[in-house]
Amino acid sequence: MKWLFILTFLAAGLQEGHSVKFSANFDSGSLGKVNLIDSVWVRSSRTDSVLHLAYEIISRQDPDNPANPELKPSARWFYFMMEGVKGKHIYLDFQNTDPMRAVYSYDAKHYQRFEDYQASLRKVSAFFSRDTVYVAYFVPYGQELLQERLKHWTASSFVTMDTLGTSMMGLPIQMLTITDPGVPEKEKNRIWIHARVHPGESPANWQLDGLLGRLTEDTPVARQYRRQSVFYVVPFTNPDGVYGGYSRSNARGINQEINWDHNDSVTSVEVKVLRARMDSLTRECPFDLVLNMHAQSDDKISYYVPTQESTNSQYHEKAMRLAYLTTDDNPYFFPEDMFYSVPAPRYVEGWLWNRTGGRTLAMTIEMPYSYYNENPDRSWVTVSSLRENGEFLLRAISDYFGWDTPGRHILKGTIRGNKTIFRYDNLPAGEYRVFTWDNAWILCDTVVKKHPGPFRYVIRAEGEPYSGPLRVSIPAIWQN
Ligand SMILES: [Zn+2]
Repeated sequence: MKWLFILTFLAAGLQEGHSVKFSANFDSGSLGKVNLIDSVWVRSSRTDSVLHLAYEIISRQDPDNPANPELKPSARWFYFMMEGVKGKHIYLDFQNTDPMRAVYSYDAKHYQRFEDYQASLRKVSAFFSRDTVYVAYFVPYGQELLQERLKHWTASSFVTMDTLGTSMMGLPIQMLTITDPGVPEKEKNRIWIHARVHPGESPANWQLDGLLGRLTEDTPVARQYRRQSVFYVVPFTNPDGVYGGYSRSNARGINQEINWDHNDSVTSVEVKVLRARMDSLTRECPFDLVLNMHAQSDDKISYYVPTQESTNSQYHEKAMRLAYLTTDDNPYFFPEDMFYSVPAPRYVEGWLWNRTGGRTLAMTIEMPYSYYNENPDRSWVTVSSLRENGEFLLRAISDYFGWDTPGRHILKGTIRGNKTIFRYDNLPAGEYRVFTWDNAWILCDTVVKKHPGPFRYVIRAEGEPYSGPLRVSIPAIWQN
């Protein structure tokens, strides 16, 4: 009897033109099957009723993987449009992916999270006030948006763009080179960053967007970053995957992340293109740093820090330093959030380790989708906090290399007996905060008043003298 009852309502709903149209035929769109499972009018006042519709959503799977047939294709990412939802309460019941972090938007630009989420049923619901709505696993960062952003970044004279090659489906694999061309290459650190190997991981691009925003702005700090470095940045290493709305694969089904040591017939054209450009750029000099930007279902930011056992103590220490520097004064990321890993040759990290023997530090960094530090009571992940994390990452890179930037001076000390003396010639008189660190652990945070004349700061050590760097920060309120 119950089923008959529902079917009657369903028939009534459809006859009156109340059905919802689903589609995903657009940039980054993805949807498998949709089934209407319930349709009920619910009285909302004496005169009005609201139509409640429940749909079962089966997310589309990536194609079968010819390089790693043992892996089950992922179906995590979804992004679709619903038309005809105005004034209706819609329930979306996900069968093969977790919609916990799902977002929706009326204009495909400004997204908000579904507030109503039933974890045990993998179900989200909302009452919609406009007729067309976009629903996605997380705020999309698609091909059209990237082209807009590239246009914006390349307007600067210190940014150039290059196409490394084309994807299987014929999309360009684009790379930005960002540097101050007036400073000789030999004096710079060389950094390669690539993102979006896994197309369902749009938070990685929002983070990178923040990093690029800060790196390309017209400020004294950004100008100093560009004097100190050459950044090679590939925002989409898997453009077909992004455009096609795949979760973890390219259009051929290959998971490019673990495709760096396969034989030629099952190596994706995209990985071949990346390897060729990395080879040609490092013929004379290796990269100092390679970062591989991802997102993860764990509710925290993590680096995959290479273990000491799988590399060596010096390399592990460098990795820890960058990792901890990224947590420095960062409200979203903490030292306990790290993962530890072995750079196997199937990953870009292992491919580089085998070629450079540790001269290039290569690490993966992961952004979450939902909240930070495994704590749902703190702030949830937003586009703006992801961008902020891009800025923290850039600052950490600067500290890691010891770039001396306005407001944040990195000094090297001289050991004299049980004292380490730090000097800086041009720091004006005023109050400064001083930080020291060892493996990036912040050891002290003191305010010192500087008198006219050269800056001098002495650390007295009990046993081993302190030999690490020292950072002098000038908070904005103290800067004239
Ligand atoms: Zn990933």
